Amino acid sequence: MAADHRFAVAVGGNRGEVAATLNWAAALLEADGLVRVTIRSSLHRTAAVGGPMGQGDFLNGAWVVTTDFGPHQLLHRLQAVETACGRTRTITWGPRTCDLDLLLAEDGRICASSVLTLPHPRLHLRAFVLAPLAEIAPDWRIPGVGQVSQLAAALAAPLSSPAPVKA
Ligand code: AMP
Repeated sequence: MAADHRFAVAVGGNRGEVAATLNWAAALLEADGLVRVTIRSSLHRTAAVGGPMGQGDFLNGAWVVTTDFGPHQLLHRLQAVETACGRTRTITWGPRTCDLDLLLAEDGRICASSVLTLPHPRLHLRAFVLAPLAEIAPDWRIPGVGQVSQLAAALAAPLSSPAPVKA
């Protein structure tokens, strides 16, 4: 396979053995040799954002995948893997075993179809997505927004510094 395109994928979950499920998801994604998971970030534990109260913390990470697929083919494959890993969509932003979102193309391509928005529209607003992404693709650029490492640093920084206290 001449795998030419690199994409970033957000991975996560908060039901079951998430780390094991994500290992299984990577194996399924690679099963026919048409997609390779070439870089994996560490997994970050984060409190759930949105959705029902009281759901468990998430483990969030990011992968770089290499493939000849176009973005729509890749999204379709990611959704099939989510389903195979037990993902259901009964509650918006509810608990889930396996969430795989297509974040960004290394070549900066943009998609705006009824099923796919690329770059992912909330990517640059979410520290729990940007932090793992900055581990594995710090130099990638979100078109019209900025460089991943700089955006991650800006989101992680406190909004203001405490004023110096005079002795
Ligand atoms: P979710 O249930 O959060 O995984 O959202 C999946 C829905 O968002 C599906 O209907 C997708 O077609 C749509 N979608 C649009 N853009 C993206 C993207 N970049 N990555 C994943 N899903 C997307």
